[in-house]
Amino acid sequence: MSEEKKVKRKKIEATAAMNKYMTDYFYELDSASKTGYKKIAWCTSVGPSELLLSMGFLVYYPENHGALLGTSRLATDVIPAANALGYSPDICSYLTADIGAYVQGVTPLSKAFEGIESVPKPDVLIFNTNQCRDVKDWFAWYSKELNVPLLGVHTHRNPTDVTDTIIPSIAKQIEELVEPLEKISGNKFDMEKLKKVVALSRECSELWKKVLETAASRPSPLTFFDGTIHMGPAVVLRGTQQAVDYYKILLKELEERVINHEGAVEDEQHRIYWDGMPVWGRLRPHSELFANLKACVLASTYCNSWIFTDFDPEDPFTSMAKAYTELFIVRSDKTKEKYMQRMIELFKIDGIIYHDAKTCPNNSNNRYGMPQRLEQKTGIPSLTINGDLNDLRLISDEQTKTNIEAFIEQLEENKK
Ligand code: SF4
Repeated sequence: MSEEKKVKRKKIEATAAMNKYMTDYFYELDSASKTGYKKIAWCTSVGPSELLLSMGFLVYYPENHGALLGTSRLATDVIPAANALGYSPDICSYLTADIGAYVQGVTPLSKAFEGIESVPKPDVLIFNTNQCRDVKDWFAWYSKELNVPLLGVHTHRNPTDVTDTIIPSIAKQIEELVEPLEKISGNKFDMEKLKKVVALSRECSELWKKVLETAASRPSPLTFFDGTIHMGPAVVLRGTQQAVDYYKILLKELEERVINHEGAVEDEQHRIYWDGMPVWGRLRPHSELFANLKACVLASTYCNSWIFTDFDPEDPFTSMAKAYTELFIVRSDKTKEKYMQRMIELFKIDGIIYHDAKTCPNNSNNRYGMPQRLEQKTGIPSLTINGDLNDLRLISDEQTKTNIEAFIEQLEENKK
Protein backbone atom coordinates (compact mmCIF):
# COMPACT_ATOMS: atom_id res chain seq x y z
CA MET A 1 0.00 0.00 0.00
CA SER A 2 1.33 3.44 -0.90
CA GLU A 3 2.34 5.69 1.96
CA GLU A 4 0.59 8.73 0.41
CA LYS A 5 -2.78 7.23 1.36
CA LYS A 6 -2.61 8.11 5.05
CA VAL A 7 -5.18 6.63 7.38
CA LYS A 8 -6.02 8.74 10.43
CA ARG A 9 -4.70 7.68 13.83
CA LYS A 10 -6.55 9.19 16.75
CA LYS A 11 -4.49 11.16 19.27
CA ILE A 12 -4.90 10.59 22.99
CA GLU A 13 -5.81 13.83 24.81
CA ALA A 14 -4.52 12.54 28.16
CA THR A 15 -0.96 12.67 26.78
CA ALA A 16 -0.53 16.22 28.09
CA ALA A 17 -1.36 15.09 31.64
CA MET A 18 1.04 12.16 31.34
CA ASN A 19 3.85 14.43 30.12
CA LYS A 20 3.35 16.65 33.16
CA TYR A 21 3.60 13.69 35.59
CA MET A 22 6.69 12.36 33.81
CA THR A 23 8.33 15.80 33.74
CA ASP A 24 7.76 16.27 37.47
CA TYR A 25 9.23 12.80 38.08
CA PHE A 26 12.46 13.52 36.20
CA TYR A 27 12.92 16.98 37.75
CA GLU A 28 12.42 15.59 41.25
CA LEU A 29 15.09 12.96 40.58
CA ASP A 30 17.42 15.58 39.15
CA SER A 31 16.95 17.88 42.10
CA ALA A 32 17.57 15.02 44.60
CA SER A 33 20.66 14.04 42.65
CA LYS A 34 22.02 17.59 42.75
CA THR A 35 21.14 18.41 46.37
CA GLY A 36 21.12 14.99 48.05
CA TYR A 37 17.86 15.87 49.86
CA LYS A 38 16.56 12.37 49.15
CA LYS A 39 18.37 9.09 48.43
CA ILE A 40 18.03 7.58 44.98
CA ALA A 41 17.70 3.88 44.19
CA TRP A 42 18.14 2.52 40.69
CA CYS A 43 15.80 -0.42 40.21
CA THR A 44 15.09 -2.88 37.41
CA SER A 45 11.68 -2.36 35.84
CA VAL A 46 10.08 -5.32 37.61
CA GLY A 47 12.17 -5.03 40.76
CA PRO A 48 10.86 -4.44 44.31
CA SER A 49 10.23 -0.72 43.92
CA GLU A 50 7.41 -0.72 46.51
CA LEU A 51 9.92 -1.50 49.25
CA LEU A 52 12.25 1.27 48.02
CA LEU A 53 9.47 3.88 47.89
CA SER A 54 8.25 2.93 51.35
CA MET A 55 11.75 3.49 52.71
CA GLY A 56 11.93 7.01 51.32
CA PHE A 57 13.99 6.43 48.15
CA LEU A 58 13.22 8.07 44.85
CA VAL A 59 13.32 5.30 42.27
CA TYR A 60 14.98 5.59 38.87
CA TYR A 61 14.70 2.88 36.19
CA PRO A 62 17.66 2.49 33.80
CA GLU A 63 15.51 0.39 31.43
CA ASN A 64 13.25 3.40 30.96
CA HIS A 65 16.39 5.35 30.07
CA GLY A 66 17.30 2.54 27.66
CA ALA A 67 13.91 2.97 25.96
CA LEU A 68 14.41 6.75 25.78
CA LEU A 69 17.76 6.16 24.10
CA GLY A 70 15.82 4.02 21.63
CA THR A 71 12.97 6.44 20.92
CA SER A 72 15.43 9.34 20.54
CA ARG A 73 17.46 7.11 18.14
CA LEU A 74 20.63 7.87 20.11
CA ALA A 75 21.09 4.21 21.01
CA THR A 76 22.70 3.07 17.77
CA ASP A 77 25.40 5.77 18.05
CA VAL A 78 26.40 4.99 21.64
CA ILE A 79 26.23 1.17 21.67
CA PRO A 80 29.77 0.81 20.22
CA ALA A 81 31.21 2.56 23.31
CA ALA A 82 29.86 -0.29 25.48
CA ASN A 83 31.05 -2.87 22.94
CA ALA A 84 34.53 -1.42 23.35
CA LEU A 85 34.33 -2.22 27.10
CA GLY A 86 33.69 -5.87 26.30
CA TYR A 87 29.89 -5.95 26.21
CA SER A 88 28.96 -7.88 23.08
CA PRO A 89 26.76 -6.34 20.36
CA ASP A 90 24.60 -9.47 20.80
CA ILE A 91 23.55 -8.80 24.41
CA CYS A 92 20.77 -6.52 25.64
CA SER A 93 20.82 -3.26 23.70
CA TYR A 94 19.28 -1.43 26.67
CA LEU A 95 22.42 -2.36 28.59
CA THR A 96 24.83 -1.47 25.80
CA ALA A 97 22.99 1.77 24.92
CA ASP A 98 22.75 2.88 28.55
CA ILE A 99 26.37 2.13 29.45
CA GLY A 100 27.52 3.53 26.10
CA ALA A 101 25.61 6.76 26.75
CA TYR A 102 27.15 7.03 30.23
CA VAL A 103 30.66 6.54 28.82
CA GLN A 104 30.03 9.19 26.18
CA GLY A 105 28.40 11.58 28.67
CA VAL A 106 25.09 11.90 26.82
CA THR A 107 21.46 11.40 27.75
CA PRO A 108 18.16 12.10 25.95
CA LEU A 109 16.95 13.62 29.25
CA SER A 110 19.06 16.75 28.51
CA LYS A 111 17.18 17.40 25.31
CA ALA A 112 13.78 16.66 26.78
CA PHE A 113 14.19 18.56 30.07
CA GLU A 114 16.03 21.85 30.21
CA GLY A 115 18.61 21.96 32.99
CA ILE A 116 19.00 18.18 33.34
CA GLU A 117 22.55 17.33 32.36
CA SER A 118 22.86 13.70 33.33
CA VAL A 119 20.95 10.75 34.75
CA PRO A 120 20.49 10.92 38.56
CA LYS A 121 23.32 9.53 40.69
CA PRO A 122 22.39 6.36 42.58
CA ASP A 123 22.86 5.62 46.30
CA VAL A 124 22.00 1.95 45.77
CA LEU A 125 21.35 -0.40 42.83
CA ILE A 126 18.62 -3.05 43.13
CA PHE A 127 17.97 -5.76 40.54
CA ASN A 128 15.64 -8.69 40.14
CA THR A 129 16.76 -11.41 37.71
CA ASN A 130 13.11 -12.36 37.02
CA GLN A 131 13.42 -10.93 33.51
CA CYS A 132 17.02 -11.83 32.58
CA ARG A 133 20.63 -12.00 33.76
CA ASP A 134 21.56 -8.91 31.79
CA VAL A 135 20.07 -6.57 34.38
CA LYS A 136 22.44 -7.90 37.05
CA ASP A 137 25.50 -7.52 34.80
CA TRP A 138 24.33 -4.06 33.84
CA PHE A 139 23.96 -2.87 37.45
CA ALA A 140 27.19 -4.63 38.47
CA TRP A 141 29.07 -2.45 35.98
CA TYR A 142 27.66 0.73 37.55
CA SER A 143 28.29 -0.60 41.05
CA LYS A 144 32.00 -0.86 40.24
CA GLU A 145 32.16 2.34 38.21
CA LEU A 146 30.33 4.51 40.77
CA ASN A 147 31.30 2.60 43.91
CA VAL A 148 27.65 2.11 44.92
CA PRO A 149 26.21 -0.94 46.74
CA LEU A 150 24.55 -3.58 44.58
CA LEU A 151 21.69 -5.64 46.05
CA GLY A 152 19.22 -7.92 44.39
CA VAL A 153 16.78 -10.75 44.11
CA HIS A 154 17.50 -13.96 42.21
CA THR A 155 14.36 -15.44 40.73
CA HIS A 156 13.67 -19.01 39.59
CA ARG A 157 13.31 -18.91 35.81
CA ASN A 158 10.82 -20.69 33.53
CA PRO A 159 8.45 -22.33 36.05
CA THR A 160 5.12 -23.55 34.66
CA ASP A 161 3.43 -23.02 38.03
CA VAL A 162 4.58 -20.48 40.58
CA THR A 163 4.36 -22.82 43.54
CA ASP A 164 4.57 -22.50 47.31
CA THR A 165 8.14 -23.76 47.20
CA ILE A 166 9.20 -20.83 44.99
CA ILE A 167 7.40 -17.89 46.59
CA PRO A 168 8.84 -18.03 50.17
CA SER A 169 12.41 -17.95 48.86
CA ILE A 170 11.73 -14.81 46.80
CA ALA A 171 9.79 -13.16 49.64
CA LYS A 172 12.71 -13.87 51.99
CA GLN A 173 15.18 -12.31 49.56
CA ILE A 174 13.05 -9.15 49.36
CA GLU A 175 12.76 -9.03 53.15
CA GLU A 176 16.52 -9.38 53.50
CA LEU A 177 16.94 -6.14 51.56
CA VAL A 178 15.40 -4.21 54.46
CA GLU A 179 18.44 -4.16 56.72
CA PRO A 180 20.99 -2.85 54.19
CA LEU A 181 18.41 -0.40 52.82
CA GLU A 182 17.85 0.98 56.33
CA LYS A 183 21.57 1.65 56.59
CA ILE A 184 21.75 3.32 53.16
CA SER A 185 18.59 5.41 53.52
CA GLY A 186 18.97 6.23 57.21
CA ASN A 187 15.24 5.44 57.52
CA LYS A 188 13.64 2.73 59.64
CA PHE A 189 11.46 0.22 57.79
CA ASP A 190 7.76 0.83 58.45
CA MET A 191 5.29 -1.94 57.58
CA GLU A 192 2.35 0.48 57.43
CA LYS A 193 4.15 2.59 54.82
CA LEU A 194 4.92 -0.49 52.75
CA LYS A 195 1.27 -1.58 52.89
CA LYS A 196 0.20 1.85 51.60
CA VAL A 197 2.67 1.74 48.68
CA VAL A 198 1.64 -1.82 47.76
CA ALA A 199 -2.02 -0.71 47.83
CA LEU A 200 -1.19 2.15 45.43
CA SER A 201 0.73 -0.20 43.12
CA ARG A 202 -2.23 -2.56 43.13
CA GLU A 203 -4.62 0.27 42.25
CA CYS A 204 -2.30 1.47 39.46
CA SER A 205 -2.09 -2.06 38.16
CA GLU A 206 -5.86 -2.57 38.13
CA LEU A 207 -6.39 0.71 36.29
CA TRP A 208 -3.66 -0.09 33.75
CA LYS A 209 -5.31 -3.48 33.14
CA LYS A 210 -8.65 -1.76 32.51
CA VAL A 211 -6.95 0.70 30.15
CA LEU A 212 -5.44 -2.13 28.11
CA GLU A 213 -8.66 -4.14 28.13
CA THR A 214 -10.60 -1.31 26.48
CA ALA A 215 -8.83 -2.60 23.35
CA ALA A 216 -11.12 -5.65 23.46
CA SER A 217 -13.83 -3.38 22.02
CA ARG A 218 -14.38 -3.25 18.30
CA PRO A 219 -13.02 -0.87 17.07
CA SER A 220 -10.21 -0.66 19.57
CA PRO A 221 -9.81 2.79 21.17
CA LEU A 222 -6.05 2.40 21.52
CA THR A 223 -3.10 0.78 19.82
CA PHE A 224 -0.07 -1.10 21.11
CA PHE A 225 2.01 1.90 20.02
CA ASP A 226 -0.07 4.20 22.25
CA GLY A 227 0.35 1.64 25.03
CA THR A 228 4.15 1.68 24.84
CA ILE A 229 4.08 5.44 25.55
CA HIS A 230 1.27 5.48 28.09
CA MET A 231 2.74 2.64 30.14
CA GLY A 232 5.41 5.13 31.35
CA PRO A 233 3.64 5.93 34.64
CA ALA A 234 2.92 2.21 35.30
CA VAL A 235 6.66 1.56 35.01
CA VAL A 236 8.21 4.54 36.81
CA LEU A 237 5.41 5.87 39.02
CA ARG A 238 3.67 2.71 40.27
CA GLY A 239 3.30 2.87 44.03
CA THR A 240 2.45 6.60 43.88
CA GLN A 241 -0.82 8.53 43.87
CA GLN A 242 0.25 10.25 40.62
CA ALA A 243 0.12 6.98 38.66
CA VAL A 244 -3.36 6.22 40.01
CA ASP A 245 -4.58 9.74 39.16
CA TYR A 246 -3.15 9.52 35.66
CA TYR A 247 -4.74 6.18 34.76
CA LYS A 248 -8.13 7.43 35.94
CA ILE A 249 -7.83 10.28 33.40
CA LEU A 250 -6.70 7.97 30.59
CA LEU A 251 -9.31 5.31 31.33
CA LYS A 252 -12.12 7.88 31.26
CA GLU A 253 -11.03 9.08 27.81
CA LEU A 254 -10.79 5.55 26.41
CA GLU A 255 -14.13 4.47 27.88
CA GLU A 256 -15.75 7.49 26.20
CA ARG A 257 -14.21 6.41 22.91
CA VAL A 258 -15.66 2.92 23.38
CA ILE A 259 -19.15 4.34 24.01
CA ASN A 260 -18.82 6.52 20.89
CA HIS A 261 -17.35 3.66 18.78
CA GLU A 262 -14.25 5.74 18.04
CA GLY A 263 -11.36 3.59 16.89
CA ALA A 264 -7.70 4.47 17.35
CA VAL A 265 -7.26 3.52 13.69
CA GLU A 266 -9.80 4.73 11.14
CA ASP A 267 -11.90 1.90 9.66
CA GLU A 268 -10.22 -0.92 11.63
CA GLN A 269 -10.28 -4.11 9.54
CA HIS A 270 -7.65 -6.35 11.12
CA ARG A 271 -6.92 -6.91 14.80
CA ILE A 272 -3.29 -7.73 15.55
CA TYR A 273 -1.45 -8.95 18.66
CA TRP A 274 2.21 -7.94 19.08
CA ASP A 275 4.49 -10.29 20.94
CA GLY A 276 7.93 -9.16 22.06
CA MET A 277 9.62 -5.80 22.47
CA PRO A 278 8.65 -2.71 20.50
CA VAL A 279 11.22 -1.31 18.06
CA TRP A 280 11.65 1.92 20.02
CA GLY A 281 13.28 3.86 17.20
CA ARG A 282 10.45 2.94 14.80
CA LEU A 283 7.29 3.44 16.87
CA ARG A 284 5.86 6.09 14.59
CA PRO A 285 6.66 4.45 11.23
CA HIS A 286 5.33 1.12 12.49
CA SER A 287 2.19 2.74 13.84
CA GLU A 288 1.63 4.46 10.46
CA LEU A 289 2.43 1.35 8.48
CA PHE A 290 -0.25 -0.72 10.23
CA ALA A 291 -2.79 2.11 10.29
CA ASN A 292 -2.40 2.61 6.54
CA LEU A 293 -3.21 -1.07 6.09
CA LYS A 294 -6.31 -0.62 8.31
CA ALA A 295 -4.74 -2.97 10.78
CA CYS A 296 -4.88 -2.11 14.46
CA VAL A 297 -2.12 -3.60 16.59
CA LEU A 298 -4.15 -3.43 19.75
CA ALA A 299 -2.76 -5.80 22.36
CA SER A 300 0.63 -7.07 23.42
CA THR A 301 2.50 -9.19 25.88
CA TYR A 302 4.85 -6.29 26.53
CA CYS A 303 2.36 -3.67 27.77
CA ASN A 304 0.61 -6.34 29.86
CA SER A 305 3.85 -6.98 31.74
CA TRP A 306 3.07 -4.15 34.15
CA ILE A 307 -0.17 -5.72 35.35
CA PHE A 308 0.49 -7.16 38.80
CA THR A 309 -2.79 -8.55 40.03
CA ASP A 310 -1.21 -10.39 42.98
CA PHE A 311 -0.27 -7.34 45.07
CA ASP A 312 -1.97 -7.63 48.46
CA PRO A 313 -1.41 -4.78 50.94
CA GLU A 314 -2.22 -7.15 53.82
CA ASP A 315 0.65 -9.45 52.88
CA PRO A 316 3.22 -7.21 51.15
CA PHE A 317 6.33 -9.40 50.98
CA THR A 318 4.65 -12.60 49.85
CA SER A 319 2.40 -10.82 47.41
CA MET A 320 5.31 -8.83 45.92
CA ALA A 321 7.21 -12.09 45.49
CA LYS A 322 4.19 -13.61 43.77
CA ALA A 323 3.46 -10.61 41.55
CA TYR A 324 7.07 -10.35 40.37
CA THR A 325 7.34 -14.07 39.65
CA GLU A 326 3.95 -14.67 38.00
CA LEU A 327 5.16 -12.47 35.12
CA PHE A 328 4.92 -13.76 31.56
CA ILE A 329 8.66 -13.38 30.94
CA VAL A 330 9.54 -15.59 33.91
CA ARG A 331 7.36 -18.53 32.86
CA SER A 332 7.61 -21.71 30.79
CA ASP A 333 6.41 -21.84 27.17
CA LYS A 334 3.48 -24.00 28.31
CA THR A 335 2.20 -21.20 30.57
CA LYS A 336 2.99 -18.54 27.97
CA GLU A 337 0.99 -20.37 25.31
CA LYS A 338 -2.06 -20.68 27.57
CA TYR A 339 -1.79 -16.97 28.30
CA MET A 340 -1.55 -16.06 24.61
CA GLN A 341 -4.59 -18.21 23.84
CA ARG A 342 -6.59 -16.22 26.40
CA MET A 343 -5.35 -12.95 24.86
CA ILE A 344 -6.29 -14.09 21.34
CA GLU A 345 -9.85 -14.77 22.52
CA LEU A 346 -10.24 -11.69 24.71
CA PHE A 347 -9.02 -9.26 22.05
CA LYS A 348 -10.60 -11.11 19.07
CA ILE A 349 -7.24 -11.31 17.31
CA ASP A 350 -6.91 -12.01 13.56
CA GLY A 351 -3.11 -12.33 13.42
CA ILE A 352 0.02 -12.24 15.58
CA ILE A 353 3.31 -10.43 14.98
CA TYR A 354 6.31 -11.91 16.78
CA HIS A 355 9.18 -9.47 17.05
CA ASP A 356 12.40 -11.46 17.21
CA ALA A 357 14.58 -8.85 18.91
CA LYS A 358 18.15 -9.86 18.18
CA THR A 359 19.56 -8.65 21.52
CA CYS A 360 16.70 -9.79 23.77
CA PRO A 361 16.06 -13.53 23.60
CA ASN A 362 14.12 -13.17 26.85
CA ASN A 363 11.35 -11.22 25.17
CA SER A 364 11.48 -13.05 21.82
CA ASN A 365 9.02 -15.93 22.04
CA ASN A 366 9.26 -17.19 18.48
CA ARG A 367 12.50 -19.16 18.79
CA TYR A 368 11.31 -22.52 20.16
CA GLY A 369 8.29 -23.32 17.98
CA MET A 370 5.65 -21.29 19.82
CA PRO A 371 4.18 -19.59 16.71
CA GLN A 372 3.64 -22.96 15.03
CA ARG A 373 2.17 -24.61 18.15
CA LEU A 374 -0.20 -21.70 18.77
CA GLU A 375 -1.30 -21.57 15.15
CA GLN A 376 -2.11 -25.28 15.32
CA LYS A 377 -4.20 -24.76 18.45
CA THR A 378 -5.98 -21.54 17.47
CA GLY A 379 -5.85 -21.31 13.68
CA ILE A 380 -4.58 -17.73 14.03
CA PRO A 381 -1.74 -17.01 11.58
CA SER A 382 1.44 -15.23 12.57
CA LEU A 383 4.43 -13.42 11.15
CA THR A 384 7.90 -13.14 12.67
CA ILE A 385 9.78 -9.93 12.01
CA ASN A 386 13.50 -9.72 12.73
CA GLY A 387 14.75 -6.60 14.38
CA ASP A 388 15.78 -5.15 17.69
CA LEU A 389 14.48 -2.97 20.48
CA ASN A 390 17.26 -0.39 20.21
CA ASP A 391 20.01 -1.24 17.73
CA LEU A 392 18.75 0.07 14.40
CA ARG A 393 21.65 -1.60 12.56
CA LEU A 394 19.79 -4.87 13.13
CA ILE A 395 16.67 -3.74 11.30
CA SER A 396 15.75 -3.83 7.65
CA ASP A 397 12.89 -1.36 7.23
CA GLU A 398 12.17 -2.46 3.67
CA GLN A 399 12.03 -6.13 4.60
CA THR A 400 9.76 -5.41 7.58
CA LYS A 401 7.39 -3.34 5.45
CA THR A 402 7.22 -5.93 2.67
CA ASN A 403 6.59 -8.77 5.14
CA ILE A 404 3.90 -6.89 7.05
CA GLU A 405 2.11 -5.85 3.87
CA ALA A 406 2.12 -9.45 2.64
CA PHE A 407 0.85 -10.68 6.01
CA ILE A 408 -2.06 -8.24 6.06
CA GLU A 409 -2.90 -9.24 2.50
CA GLN A 410 -3.00 -12.85 3.68
CA LEU A 411 -5.40 -11.85 6.48
CA GLU A 412 -7.59 -10.11 3.90
CA GLU A 413 -7.62 -13.26 1.75
CA ASN A 414 -8.54 -15.37 4.79
CA LYS A 415 -11.64 -13.22 5.34
CA LYS A 416 -13.01 -13.83 1.83
S1 SF4 B 1 14.53 -8.42 29.31
FE1 SF4 B 1 15.64 -8.07 27.39
S2 SF4 B 1 15.48 -5.85 27.02
FE2 SF4 B 1 14.92 -6.21 29.17
S3 SF4 B 1 16.83 -5.90 30.28
FE3 SF4 B 1 16.68 -8.10 29.85
S4 SF4 B 1 17.76 -8.47 27.91
FE4 SF4 B 1 17.38 -6.24 28.15
